[in-house]
Amino acid sequence: MPSSKKKKPQQPAQGEPSNPTAPAVETTDPQTNKPNIVDIHTHMYPASYIKLLESRNTIPLIRSFPGHPEPRLVLLPSEVPLLSNPSPSHPPGRPLTEAYTSLDAKIAFMDKHNISISVLSLANPWLEFLSTSPDPSSLLEPALRINVEFEVMCNQHPGRLYFFGVLPLHPENTLCALPLVLSMKMKFKHCRGVIIGTNGLGKGLDDPDMEDVFEMLEEDDLPIFLHPHYGLPNQVFGERAEKGEYGHVLSLALGFPMETTVAVSRMYLSGMFDKFPKLKVILAHGGGTLPFLAARIESCIRHDGYLHKKEKEGRGKIKRSIWEVLNSQVYLDAVVYGEVGLKAAIQASGERGVERLMFGTDHPFFPPLEEGEEEWGSVVMNTEAVNKGLGEGSKEARMVLEENAIKILNLEKP
Ligand code: URA
Ligand code: ZN
Repeated sequence: MPSSKKKKPQQPAQGEPSNPTAPAVETTDPQTNKPNIVDIHTHMYPASYIKLLESRNTIPLIRSFPGHPEPRLVLLPSEVPLLSNPSPSHPPGRPLTEAYTSLDAKIAFMDKHNISISVLSLANPWLEFLSTSPDPSSLLEPALRINVEFEVMCNQHPGRLYFFGVLPLHPENTLCALPLVLSMKMKFKHCRGVIIGTNGLGKGLDDPDMEDVFEMLEEDDLPIFLHPHYGLPNQVFGERAEKGEYGHVLSLALGFPMETTVAVSRMYLSGMFDKFPKLKVILAHGGGTLPFLAARIESCIRHDGYLHKKEKEGRGKIKRSIWEVLNSQVYLDAVVYGEVGLKAAIQASGERGVERLMFGTDHPFFPPLEEGEEEWGSVVMNTEAVNKGLGEGSKEARMVLEENAIKILNLEKP
């Protein structure tokens, strides 16, 4: 069990700024005179993953529909009802463009948007659909292969690419993941953490079996990039949504952030952050709704009769407030698209909250929808939120757009 293992001596936390109040070094692209950007939330599906999805007939899958030239990528549980009776004019999923698969397309996107460095990650749902296999070791090969594919991509563009690796998480055998975690940094020079979903080993991130995984990640100083996939159950959104009337809007705008919020709240309530105080967790989409709801969570905890009694009887207490955890172990991406959300994310992250936010695009999701549009409106919205919220060209904006990620994830400036 993790608690009985001999702890390695703690290294200084990776990327902790030695002098966090020192001004960020301004770097701009000499051609455009715009600030360089580091994108920590940017996905790809490498070739082996695409092959896997092409072989499947339940989600996640890739399928062609008559009358549609591009095959479609069907990922979301909310799309399942539409798969059995697809609309001829608007079948489920999204067109599988080269933005999802091609490294050249990623680099072209980065160049277009002044992104000097991207920290790539496999997009949802990672390898979770393989965890129904009775053989836990069957996840090892695909996970290893995908991580190798990412490392190879990074080597092709020195200084511009890093990645969050994927883990072979399986409910039957947590130990299966461990050798891979342990060797992640040794094997992969460009790995800067791992991306995981809210499901963990199948029972969420408050599952005691996750402790092995958290312990290894903490010891290896590999941050978790926590990302949603399942959203909320279809019934929440009603029949019209189920028929596809609202596209992906409710799942992505509301389901995803709520899923992240629930996952991290469960992790917090279970005491995982207290158990692994050096574990770093980066929350996707500005922490879901956590910045807005943290005070309510805190109040509900303080005024909960059951928790109060438990604490009085010495049967367990959460040591730190949710604010303390937000200010020390949690980092947020800045994928929030608006000034109000951005400011909430910074405020929730503490007095020095502006040091804890890192810019992201969520590329290749939310692409331009009209032919010939080269600039991605979703990225512009997100960049403008930072510039308006913090002041274009300000030290704070530069921290969020570039410097924080370099420090926190220990990246090298190109
Ligand atoms: N963004 C993601 O990362 N995944 C999705 O499925 C949709 C948006
Ligand atoms: Zn994403």
